Amino acid sequence: MSVDRSKIVIVDDEPRFVESLQTLFRDRYEILSTQNSRTATEMVRAEQPQLILLNLNMPEMDGYHVLWQIKQNRETADIPIIVVTGLHEVADETKSLRMGAVDFITKPYHPEILQARIDNQLELKRQKDFFKDLSYEDYLTKIPNRRSFNEILEREYRRCRRNHSCLSLLMIDVDHFKKYNDIYGHVAGDRCLKRIVSAMNQQLRRPSDRLARFGGEEFACVLPETDSTGAKTLAISLQQAILNLHMVHAEGIKHRVTVSIGIATSEASGGCEADQLIGTADRYLYLAKNQGRNTICCV
Ligand code: GH3
Ligand code: MG
Ligand code: MG
Repeated sequence: MSVDRSKIVIVDDEPRFVESLQTLFRDRYEILSTQNSRTATEMVRAEQPQLILLNLNMPEMDGYHVLWQIKQNRETADIPIIVVTGLHEVADETKSLRMGAVDFITKPYHPEILQARIDNQLELKRQKDFFKDLSYEDYLTKIPNRRSFNEILEREYRRCRRNHSCLSLLMIDVDHFKKYNDIYGHVAGDRCLKRIVSAMNQQLRRPSDRLARFGGEEFACVLPETDSTGAKTLAISLQQAILNLHMVHAEGIKHRVTVSIGIATSEASGGCEADQLIGTADRYLYLAKNQGRNTICCV
């Protein structure tokens, strides 16, 4: 049995249909099923399958409604849905496809055709996920990129507002990095950035602390539920971890690779918006540069 079998959820009130698929595909896919269309969306959300097989004609809530619910929910909207139904009308097929189903198969089904169609959709889903991950990850350092950072910051900001907790943001910029490239070359520059990221990541203790590449040699660190004192402590440890790499930089501060850090904190009582947080951290980063680099500045 392969370890990474795709997970498929079947939403169908006909036990015989579910049983026949279980028998056919048990070794190929991990199959979960529910006859309860009312709770189907919740199950799909919790299970996060790679594919859903959905019946249309069900007593509790019809398949169209389930389809609509799954497409409405951001956490489930990207999961492909194949409608497998006893309905043969052109109108049903059209409606299903228009509502976002990826395929429409009529019962009685032909096992080999069903399997081929399932495999095609699973392959498409794999490719989509692959490119989605790529578009959220920085190619060089493998940490969240700018686009991903924007989403992380927005999400964590809203969460901290809801919980009446504070949130801090660090903007981190490598000092004299242009000169580093000029002296040691871009390949060494790339390697240096990777080592910096790895050293910083090792300092992050909470799973909710997230380091992202803001752009070029600039990084951002989102610290939920962290006040300015906590943020400063972490900034010092990041700076020290980079110094401890002892990466030589002939024209750097202390002849080593160093970073400057600006800190902004949104207090629990509210105050600045997520965008303002970036602006403030940026201003303090600029100040840190002006104060001679290898420096941390905050309010
Ligand atoms: P400062 O101390 O004021 O920050 O000076 P700096 O030289 O670090 O800043 P500047 O903005 O002048 O230069 C940033 C440099 O970072 C220039 C750019 O070539 C380099 N850089 C940006 N992204 C990458 C990358 O992915 N790889 C490499 N090797 N270099 C990069
Ligand atoms: Mg720089
Ligand atoms: Mg810069």
